[in-house]
Amino acid sequence: MARYINAVCRLCRREGEKLFLKGPRCTSPKCPIAKRTYPPGQHGQKNKPKLSNYGLQLREKQKVKRIYGVLERQFRRYFAIASKSKGVTGKVLLQLLERRLDNVVFRLGLAVSRAQARQLVRHNFVFVNSRRVNIPSFLIKPGDNIEIKAKDKALGKIKENIELSKERSVPAWLEFDAAGLKSKITRLPEKDDIPTNIQEQMIVELYSK
Ligand code: SF4
Repeated sequence: MARYINAVCRLCRREGEKLFLKGPRCTSPKCPIAKRTYPPGQHGQKNKPKLSNYGLQLREKQKVKRIYGVLERQFRRYFAIASKSKGVTGKVLLQLLERRLDNVVFRLGLAVSRAQARQLVRHNFVFVNSRRVNIPSFLIKPGDNIEIKAKDKALGKIKENIELSKERSVPAWLEFDAAGLKSKITRLPEKDDIPTNIQEQMIVELYSK
């Protein structure tokens, strides 16, 4: 299972906006994007060229991939599923990304970033409908029950994460019992449930060329 393992702050600097990939550090004054407002790399400080329509669409797609921690191949697979579905392609694409188990664990506030949520899933702490699921890309559906089973140090860390994530409210499509570390998926997420500024139509246009 491939994943990006280099410095994540470079990704924010490349997109020119905070993608919140590092949890609490992203809201601290140490966030590198505040100090270096230009893209990373040798040519980052050169004059920024005006982006074409294609360039804007490409950047939007890259941004979304980076937010959700998905690489190109998997992202294309999500797009293929979305374009074949009966619903609006852009909306279904976002729903697929939101339904990933690592994203749901993050949205519940059990982890401070999607990377950490992914680790919780990989380390066998997450159960879906009473069965252990250690695949971060597992897609949850309405009616599913999610439970966290952890002991000692891991349990302490998860509770600490819940405290740290308090200002991020749990979205309306998820029911969450913080004391019991249990959640129920009540419905599919809508665009309004996603607190990130994403222009999914641009991604649809890019892949439809
Ligand atoms: Fe992005 Fe967070 Fe790094 Fe700031 S600290 S550049 S928001 S990942």
